Amino acid sequence: MVDTLIVGGGTAGCVLAARLSEAPGHTVRLLEAGPVWSAAAEMPAALRDATRLPIGPESRWLWRYPATLAASSDDDSAVEGNLVRGRVIGGSSMVNGSYFVRATAADFAAWSAALGGSPDWAFDAVLPVYRELEDDRDYGDQPGHGRGGPIPVRRTADPAPVSRAFAAAARAAGFAEVPDLNALPGAGPTEGVGPVPCNVDDGVRVGTASAYLLPVLARRNLSVQGGVLVSRIRFQGDRAVGVDYRRGESSGTIWADRIVLCAGAVESAALLLRSGIGPPDELAALGIPVVRPAPVGVRFDDHPEIGLEYLLDVPTPAAVPLEYVLTLDDIEIRPYTVRFAADRHRLGVALMRPESAGVLRLRGADPLGPPRIEHRFLADAADRARLREAVALAADVLHRIPGAYPCHPPPESGHDAWLRANLATSQHLSGTCRMGAAEDGVVDARCAVHGVSGLSVVDLSVVPVPLSRGPQATAVMLAERAAGWLTS
Ligand SMILES: Cc1cc2nc3c(=O)[nH]c(=O)nc-3n(C[C@H](O)[C@H](O)[C@H](O)COP(=O)(O)OP(=O)(O)OC[C@H]3O[C@@H](n4cnc5c(N)ncnc54)[C@H](O)[C@@H]3O)c2cc1C
Repeated sequence: MVDTLIVGGGTAGCVLAARLSEAPGHTVRLLEAGPVWSAAAEMPAALRDATRLPIGPESRWLWRYPATLAASSDDDSAVEGNLVRGRVIGGSSMVNGSYFVRATAADFAAWSAALGGSPDWAFDAVLPVYRELEDDRDYGDQPGHGRGGPIPVRRTADPAPVSRAFAAAARAAGFAEVPDLNALPGAGPTEGVGPVPCNVDDGVRVGTASAYLLPVLARRNLSVQGGVLVSRIRFQGDRAVGVDYRRGESSGTIWADRIVLCAGAVESAALLLRSGIGPPDELAALGIPVVRPAPVGVRFDDHPEIGLEYLLDVPTPAAVPLEYVLTLDDIEIRPYTVRFAADRHRLGVALMRPESAGVLRLRGADPLGPPRIEHRFLADAADRARLREAVALAADVLHRIPGAYPCHPPPESGHDAWLRANLATSQHLSGTCRMGAAEDGVVDARCAVHGVSGLSVVDLSVVPVPLSRGPQATAVMLAERAAGWLTS
């Protein structure tokens, strides 16, 4: 029997498997639904090339889910959208935009407060972990940064014309330059326009499969299997003892001393629900016996993003999708380098700490059925007001880019129908299996599922507060931190 069975070899799962298997006497088995390669160099070019987002209709490395982004209102029908996640070793870190930014000190103050002031998630506790996982090629030798960690972090030296034009326009609008978005609090401006730290090395996307797991595959105490879909967790009483899986036409059960879910914010929640951990009424309605009542899926966070499309006649060389960002506390304005339609560029205007929260539920007990995902974006009037302000600000910056022409400008009074018509998700879903006290959380401050033994969740589903930055760097940090606890 294996010591630790990890379900999902994604962003967090690859870090955890690599760290836990550093102890030669500890056996680790990782099951991943998507494909696995034996070395980073063998991965398909579409995954390695950081200038491409391999999420088009032809992509073979994705989970795809329908999602209702905003509910219907008296005047408008519901806004439907699509969610994707990586289904490949490395998970979403192998298909994403390579923006690698730490969450803010204020986010950790909120995270720690959500746990009654837990020191485990105070900024001072997580900062050394962020530092150790980074190899910051620009600022690594400066205070608060890391040099020599597994993840290369660098900012673009030669921005594409569209990024340069946006940064110049933001400066002209009076915004400060933020040379380092990962700077320590107090070490420089935190609001303004700056280059995006990216986990890219010489044009290659360095996800956690390439940075952590694939280099250590030869360890004798580590077994990694691709193409294995875990469908359910098995319990004996209140102890998790194994998982049921499907692999092609075959199926079976694998037993383990300890199970860690790293299946991501959608699938970790779905697995808990299918296995009887969730809201009792919902489970009973689906005929799923309750193992432990828990608020799985009752509230999740994501970053709503309004797309402001524009025409600009500039060359578009291959570049990472986002080279510069204008960041204003709870707002990010993103000048994407990739064209979204033949001749159109896009500014993404994202709200990073929305009040509105989403809900995830099972549609049925079938493990192959996608869960029902309702973002409930724009439900809160404060979010709508803040997004209207942010869009007006983005339109002002756009207006200052010589030759830029908005395709569908926001109305002067910025009404909600326009927001709904241009609504999307940043693909940053988190918080479906939140950390918290036993009464209102799914996992405790160290990622153990409340009320059962032998089961933890280590991925973005446990984050209890909205993050003011993209979540990838925090998923890596979280897994590094959990690995320490799971080995002690
Ligand atoms: C298109 C896209 C672009 C993004 N861009 C950025 C960005 O630039 N910067 C940023 O900060 N964030 C970005 N994000 C978000 C970020 O990448 C993710 O939130 C983060 O990587 C999630 O990490 P995770 O470990 O929680 O889950 P994942 O990395 O999604 O890993 C989950 C893994 O579990 C596997 N799995 C799931 N269910 C099962 C099962 N039942 N059995 C076996 N295996 C299973 C999956 O195949 C996957 O490998 C982006 C996300 C997407 C989808």
